[in-house]
Amino acid sequence: MLCARCGAAADGPPVSWTLSVEGGVRRHYCEVCSRENLRAIEGRLDAEWW
Ligand SMILES: [Zn+2]
Repeated sequence: MLCARCGAAADGPPVSWTLSVEGGVRRHYCEVCSRENLRAIEGRLDAEWW
């Protein structure tokens, strides 16, 4: 399991991670990136920079 943003690796089911479906692609974000991702969603920012 790799974070789609920072590439952090996690063993087993990362319960603190977030699964995001973007353009039909399943992406997992670690706890840190999840917060950043939520902030981006709340700000309605374009996700292209991911
Ligand atoms: Zn990450």
